[in-house]
Amino acid sequence: MCQQTTVAAVVPYFERWMAAFPTVAALAAADEQAVLGHWQGLGYYSRARNLHRAAKAVMERHDGKVPGDLALLEALPGIGAYTAAAVVAFAFDKPAPVVDANVARVLARLHDFREPIDSARGKKFLNEAAWTLQPESGAGKFNSALMELGALVCKPRSPICPLCPIRGACRTRDPEALPIKRSRQAVTSVTERRAWVVENGAIHLALSTERWKGMWILPEIDDEGAPVVHVENYPITRYRVRMEVVVAPCGSVAGLRAFSWHEIETIPIPSPHRRAIRALAETQVTRHR
Ligand code: SF4
Repeated sequence: MCQQTTVAAVVPYFERWMAAFPTVAALAAADEQAVLGHWQGLGYYSRARNLHRAAKAVMERHDGKVPGDLALLEALPGIGAYTAAAVVAFAFDKPAPVVDANVARVLARLHDFREPIDSARGKKFLNEAAWTLQPESGAGKFNSALMELGALVCKPRSPICPLCPIRGACRTRDPEALPIKRSRQAVTSVTERRAWVVENGAIHLALSTERWKGMWILPEIDDEGAPVVHVENYPITRYRVRMEVVVAPCGSVAGLRAFSWHEIETIPIPSPHRRAIRALAETQVTRHR
């Protein structure tokens, strides 16, 4: 849940999630719509789908027990090197290279590594450097300590070197110049048109098969001439999306399903679409063109 999302934002979602799916078995047995419903508002829904798939895989391959092995964890849907290492170190207290942004910064400075840390060579270097430091016991505490060192002492700006417990081993003379990163991918602006189809007190929505697979969304429409009644701007991956909503008559878009206003509160709808629906419902834009 904390990928791309702050801990403060995650806490209430995590608590509701754990109440609904307290065990791997409960999550594996859950309906996908219920899983997506509990993720609603967190964004990046592939994480919810992957957790669901991973829970099913743990039931099938590991008799319901999460494995404490890097390779077995990485073979599960949605689990990459970082998450696998975090599970092994924090849940099983076994050595594993947990390299988050804070740890990457500490390691790059400690070794005065002057290459991009987000390159293939950089990642390999950090992984090996983190492995070299792992203690035989107490890996959970050690990895936590390294993360905290980066967050509280070896900060991106103004690191507190005089107070640093590993100052004697640190090779860099210019900590603020490190780590080096490749230039960021440019953000691309895109505009998409969505239809507001309301008839007889029901709103007509499409089941997404792409970005928000399994969730209900305002349907796409190709109608340049229609006046825009609502705009939602939102970021997703490297895109900045301008979603323009236009009123469309019933039947103008195929394959929709009608929902009552009560029902839409209970089905999974991605946040930008839900915001648009709520805003338009409030302004009572229910007439046909
Ligand atoms: S001595 Fe300074 S730069 Fe080096 S690891 Fe410690 S806080 Fe970071």
